[in-house]
Amino acid sequence: TEHNGQTMSHVCGRFAPSPTGDLHLGNLRTALIAWLSVRSQHGSFVVRMEDLDPVTSSVVHERRQLADLAAVGIESDQVVVRQSERFDLYRDAISELESRGLVYACWCTRREIRDAAIAPHGDPLPDGAYPGTCRSVSEAARLRFEREGRPSALRLRTDGERYAFTDQLVGSCGGMVDGLVDGLVDDVVLQRNDGVPAYNLAVVVDDHLQGVTEVVRGDDLVASTPRQLHLHHLLGFAPPVYAHVPLVFGADGTRLAKRHGAVTLTDLAERGIRPTTVLTMLLASIGLPSDSTDSTDSAELAGRFAWQQVPRTPWRLEEGML
Ligand code: GLU
Repeated sequence: TEHNGQTMSHVCGRFAPSPTGDLHLGNLRTALIAWLSVRSQHGSFVVRMEDLDPVTSSVVHERRQLADLAAVGIESDQVVVRQSERFDLYRDAISELESRGLVYACWCTRREIRDAAIAPHGDPLPDGAYPGTCRSVSEAARLRFEREGRPSALRLRTDGERYAFTDQLVGSCGGMVDGLVDGLVDDVVLQRNDGVPAYNLAVVVDDHLQGVTEVVRGDDLVASTPRQLHLHHLLGFAPPVYAHVPLVFGADGTRLAKRHGAVTLTDLAERGIRPTTVLTMLLASIGLPSDSTDSTDSAELAGRFAWQQVPRTPWRLEEGML
């Protein structure tokens, strides 16, 4: 933002859920960390709906998610945008990459990718990485696919780029991990074969356009961060800083899910547990116990928030915690 002719650095954080169901306690906890971090730096906060997938996303889920966020005191400072309404912006970014020869069509099925990934190759690829099969598809095969009307995805042409970054919670990422060099970028999908822009591309375009300087999200997305850093770089954007929050586990030590029972505000309300009680528990789990203070006083909470107090290990939701 411009201030007295000088550019002030303005902190902006975000929470970007996919409206495919109710938020569970882990999602709410991550949102809370993102929001408190920003508030503690007097920055702004944006909620964005990642509803790229028209089959799994719905406005009903969106409304419920926003209501649950509001129930724990979190609101967006900007209009909540929907990715489903921004396809033109993502396509512009793809065209920009295409004009530089960085995009190619890919006809591979999931199965073909899985099989190819098992074959021995040089460098270890990140989880779900694409081995590059369609980069060198023959002219004959290309014509056949087109004749058959086989739909193609669009992929980014990469060249072994690697990205190291320092995560607020995880620490060094993308360097040497267990003796292996990590942080390698693969030929990530930019547009799916049903024409829908892909997650990694949309996230990068939106984080840039919304002025996001700080990304706080679940640590299941650590492996995608080098891809996103590469896209920021290629598109000439300044990348945000990252904090990947360890996931939440149920009492049995597996990733929190519906089968763990009451894991959403709605489930808990049915058991007579109010959102403020849940909020107090979530705050305690991120280093903000509120024995005497009011857990709904956001300025007071933001004043006490500190990254050093946020646990680096998964949070285990034990029976009877609420
Ligand atoms: N929409 C993604 C999710 O709900 C999160 C994306 C992100 O935070 O970068 O899993």
